[in-house]
Amino acid sequence: MNNELLDFRSDTVTKPTPGMLEAMMSAKVGDDVFGEDETVHQLETKLAELFNMEAGLFCPSGTMTNQIAIKCFTQPMDEVICDQTAHVYRYEIGGIAFHSAASVRLLHGERGILTPDLIEPEINEDNIHYPNSSLVVLENTVNKGGGSCYKLSDIAPIHHLCNIKGLKLHLDGARIFNALTATGDSAHDYGQYFDGISVCLSKGLGAPVGSVLLASKATIHKARKIRKAFGGGMRQAGFLAAAGIYALDNHVERLKDDHKHARDLAAALSGTSYVKSVMPVETNIVIFEVAAGTANKVVSRLQEKGLLCNTTSSSTIRLVTHLDLSSSMIDRAIEIIVHL
Ligand SMILES: *Cc1c(COP(=O)(O)O)cnc(C)c1O
Repeated sequence: MNNELLDFRSDTVTKPTPGMLEAMMSAKVGDDVFGEDETVHQLETKLAELFNMEAGLFCPSGTMTNQIAIKCFTQPMDEVICDQTAHVYRYEIGGIAFHSAASVRLLHGERGILTPDLIEPEINEDNIHYPNSSLVVLENTVNKGGGSCYKLSDIAPIHHLCNIKGLKLHLDGARIFNALTATGDSAHDYGQYFDGISVCLSKGLGAPVGSVLLASKATIHKARKIRKAFGGGMRQAGFLAAAGIYALDNHVERLKDDHKHARDLAAALSGTSYVKSVMPVETNIVIFEVAAGTANKVVSRLQEKGLLCNTTSSSTIRLVTHLDLSSSMIDRAIEIIVHL
């Protein structure tokens, strides 16, 4: 077992647990394109109720939920406002332009966190030359921000601004449960502030596949058609939805362990000579800057010792903690880090 790889590349690498597989095997399924899969329906309803939204839509990926939401909330030639680090901009292959024919206004938040003061001056006036600013997208937690979090008290004034200016507000909540764990905010209080929320089941929650878009009934009706147009209508998807339900019931409480593991790793990294600085750790992501040489070299040396991770730039490296990294594996990782 001691030669087992320590995989810190992403919280997407987790495999279904025996309990999760059992829940999947015994799921009641039907054709979800016909609206007949009761397990999918149960997952959508469960998350909608949890976040106090009217309805949900189960999708194959977080990228698809975000792109469907953006298409629901914009018209061609509109402009989407987000941070320059945003997943919807950087890591969704220019999907905003491709699917929605909208432009993007990039802001520079502190570790990806936006404020009303940053957003307000970037909302276009009604002018013949300007795209119509129609949507703000927030990310919580911010991946590129090293897992930085918005608190609900940061979100309320952004919602207020969007409301008076007539913009929609969407949350890329790929790691929303990590944010809830770190801030102590309640999921139920989120619904009132957002027109759309994307929740990933395949990141920290440990399901193999799937994300759910939460919104009003009218928006989900439209989103369901867009999902079909994107080729995302799934048939007996209840087998996958069952994994999501299991994850929500069993894998949320334990996220605090991932956060502790991330803090422990950050502390170990801070004490080494090859690390220049470590970003503050708020959740399950640790981003650090190497002191000398390139990040690629440090990644290769870590890999030789059995610790897998990725660079996020030529001088920075990211480690992500998750369900498949136990406390004893974290101890082994710390040994590797300290003696590299
Ligand atoms: C992973 C991720 C997504 C969705 O990614 P998929 O791989 O398409 O599920 C969206 N936003 C953020 C911030 C992410 O980290």
